Parts: sequence; structure tokens; C-alpha cells
Amino acid sequence: MPKKTKKKKKAVFPKKKKVGRPRKIGTKKRTAWGVKRKKTSQQQKKQEDGFKIKEEAQILRGMNDIYGEDIMYWQYTLKKMVDLSERYGFNQIIVPVLERLFLFEKSAGITSDVVEKQMYTFRDRSGNKVVLRPEFTPSVVRAYIETGMFNLPQPVKLYYFGPLFRYERPQAGRSRQFHQFGIEVIGSEKPLIDAQLILFSQTLFNSLDIKASIQINSLGCEECRKSYRSRLVQYFKFKKRWLCEDCKKRLSKNPLRIFDCQKETCQKFTRQAPQLVDYLCEDCQRHFVKTLEYLDEINVVYEFNPYLVRGLDYYTRTVFEFWPDREIQKKSKKQRQRSLILERLGAQVALGGGGRYDNVVESLGGLSTPATGLSYGMERIIDEIKKQEVKITRPRSPQIFFTHVGEKASRRALKIFNELQKEKFKIAENFAKDSLRQQLEKANKLHVKLALILGQEETRNSTIIIRDMNTGNQEVIDQKKLVNELRKRLR
Ligand code: AMP
Repeated sequence: MPKKTKKKKKAVFPKKKKVGRPRKIGTKKRTAWGVKRKKTSQQQKKQEDGFKIKEEAQILRGMNDIYGEDIMYWQYTLKKMVDLSERYGFNQIIVPVLERLFLFEKSAGITSDVVEKQMYTFRDRSGNKVVLRPEFTPSVVRAYIETGMFNLPQPVKLYYFGPLFRYERPQAGRSRQFHQFGIEVIGSEKPLIDAQLILFSQTLFNSLDIKASIQINSLGCEECRKSYRSRLVQYFKFKKRWLCEDCKKRLSKNPLRIFDCQKETCQKFTRQAPQLVDYLCEDCQRHFVKTLEYLDEINVVYEFNPYLVRGLDYYTRTVFEFWPDREIQKKSKKQRQRSLILERLGAQVALGGGGRYDNVVESLGGLSTPATGLSYGMERIIDEIKKQEVKITRPRSPQIFFTHVGEKASRRALKIFNELQKEKFKIAENFAKDSLRQQLEKANKLHVKLALILGQEETRNSTIIIRDMNTGNQEVIDQKKLVNELRKRLR
């Protein structure tokens, strides 16, 4: 047995020394294997400039890395969303990032900005026209039809989370890859469901502690929109020359999309345009009134916004959006209305939105199936949490710091560390450092309550030192009693 360990040591030790960072001996710049190490001018320059990623490897415009403190916000927000969805009886669905182009052209509509201008479209190696999904609803509907979810008890309630891609001009609150969390209820036309989704949002905003105003409108059905569309064309006919080039085209192709225009000149006209709500058929009118009555019943505060049309073609009947309510809270009604418009103009601010899409399932090959849903922009919600200075609950920080000194101890260290984390202790360590001083420096920074010190002697005796980081008192205890002792001290 001892022979075996000796042999092993000989084979491993020199190899290990050379692959590691050359160790300085004394004050001379000599490495462990005696080669003088000179800094090249390139290395010196890098150290002065800081490391720089090669230009060709840089992140693409409009894309972001999410890391550090931000992760805490993402986990906090996502957890609240998932918990609430599950309490409401939604099940998660994960759909592919890559889909066929047809799916979005057919559902979101070829005249919507998202489909017309913002999609990442390309051909895959088999020649299929594909897109990086620019939104979730069409994918969820596709899955509903394709996996036979229409055979399940209706409505089917699903929630999702993930990245979306839109080739837009990157600016504050608008990036090319962003994330949405959303819910869909497929298989019911009841206005009670519309009201429930809005209640869901109000509950979510309350639990995230952010203030948002709920904007609501009804887009009616195909029939109501037909008569409204011709009225709208008539209204814009004499204003056409003042409209932007895009809106001139929109006027002949799909006049409702003029309301999506962010240009001030076009907005000036849309604010005085005839309102769709005056053209609703009886059924759609009843549906909208019922939705609002349900909301009044549960004291949900909303604002009727007759110019809210949402950016996609598939919406029918109730549509809604959530706007940040930072500046508008304390203002008078008139100012409030003005700043709402300004917020809208300053645009790019909606925290989320949604509405009914009663025709999408059928348009993609399913039976006529009413549906509704909503989504939140994760980046915007998190930004709002920060802007409204919400205090979020931070993840539990470690209470124990594990240190080891010497080769023998480091062999035992991983085993003890593993046993402790299995017992659900949150333990910090700095296994990358050998010196006890450097390890304890990190323990101090983390403000842990206890440090565990495993030296050569403790390894030999199967003991370990527990150090109280506040008092500096140390006690040697048997490794077998460690779990119980830690539980007692951290109680
Ligand atoms: P939409 O599907 O366009 O209604 O978007 C729903 C929500 O996603 C919006 O209210 C925003 O919060 C968010 N969102 C949409 N586009 C972007 C983008 N380019 N960058 C960041 N968030 C976005």
C-alpha cells in the first residue's frame, strides 16, 4: 500500500508543477523549473490596456450579456412570474428558437413591422426559409395544434419564457435579442378570461412592487374592422400628403397599422382619428363591456385607450398594454393624459401587453378556437424594478467559509465540502488559493459567520477547526460531529 502511493507521487508531481503557473522563487524572477521569465512587450501592453476582446469576436450590436448583480434581478423576477403562473394553473411550454417563416407571416401578418422589417430570416442548409422567433404566440399556437393539445380539456393554459429576436435599431429599452415571459389561454372566448389575465398582471406588478398603468381597448372582430377601416381611409385621405412614406403605404395596405407609427406628424393625426370602439358590432361591444365590468367588480384600475391597436395583425377584441407609472402618478388628470401620450411617444416603454387572437388557431390549420394571452418584456420589467428602486430579496449569502492548508488537506477538502453541501449548507471557499491568509481574506469580505480550517494535522486526526469570525475564537472538533455542530451554531 505505501509503495503504491510513493509511485503515484513521483509520476504526478513534476508534471503538475510544469503545467501550472510558474512559481517565483525568492525575489528573483525565476520559475520553479529555473527559466527566467521575461514579459514580452505585447504582454506588457495588454496589462496596461486591460484585456480586450478581438474585434472579430465582439458581441453583436443589440445583443447583451446578462451577468453579475443583474442575475439576482432576473432570478427574482422570473421566480415571481413562474410562481404566480403556477398558482393560476398554467403549465410551462418550451418552444424552439428557430421556426418556419410562414408561421409568422400567416399569424402576425406581413404588414406588421415585426414581420415586414424586423425578422432574422435566412435559409437553413436544406433550403427552408426559417426565422429566429420574433415572438412566442405563433409558436405556442403551432405547438397546440401540432401536439394535439386541442384534445385536452379546454382551455389550455400555458406559460413560457425565453429569448426573442427582432432586428430593430438598438436604443434604451430596445435590443435585438430580448426576453419575454408570457401566458396563453387557448380555447375560450369568455370575457372573464380577458379580465383574469389583466388581474394576473395587476397581481404580478403588485408582487414585484412596481407601479404600472393598464391601458385597454377593443379591436373588435373582422366584421367591425371592415367598416372601421373604410372610415379610417376616408379620414386619412385628405391628410395623406402629411403622412410619412411608410404610413402612405399603410393607408392602402393596412390602415390600422398607421397607429403603430412613432413619427410625431403621423401621431398628430392618429390622436384625432375616428375610434374603433364606435364601430364595434353588438357581440364585440357586449364582450368588451363585460370585460370592463369584471374588472370594475374586482377594483382593477385601468385606462380606456381608444388608440391602442398593438403592433400585430392577429389581435381581435380586447387588447391591453402595461405602461410604467412612474411620472404620471402624482399629476392632475389633464397632465396625466398628456404624459401618457408622451410616454407612448417616447415609446419603447411598454412593460408588456397582449390581447385576444381568436382567429390564429384556425389560420394555421386548426379548428376555430378563440384564444388570448399576454407577454412581459423581461429587460423592461427589470429596468423598471431598478428605476422604481424596489428592494428585492437577495439570495441567501453563505454563512460558512471552508479553508484548507497543505496537499493532504486539499485531498480531503473536496470530500468534506461535498458532504456539507449535501446537508444543504451554503458554503463559500477559495480552492484556487493555497495560502490560508488569502483564503481568510475572502472569508472576511463575505462576512461569513464561521470559517472551517482543515490543516495537515486536522487531516491526520480526522478533526477540523471551527473559527468564529466575529470573536476569532477557534475550536477543534471531530469531523464526524461537524454537521451537528454547524447546525447548532447557525441556528
Ligand atoms: P410585443 O410583442 O411587441 O407586444 O412586445 C411585448 C413586450 O416585449 C413589450 O411590451 C416590451 O416590454 C418587450 N419588447 C418588445 N420588443 C422589445 C425589444 N426590441 N427590446 C426589449 N424589449 C422588447
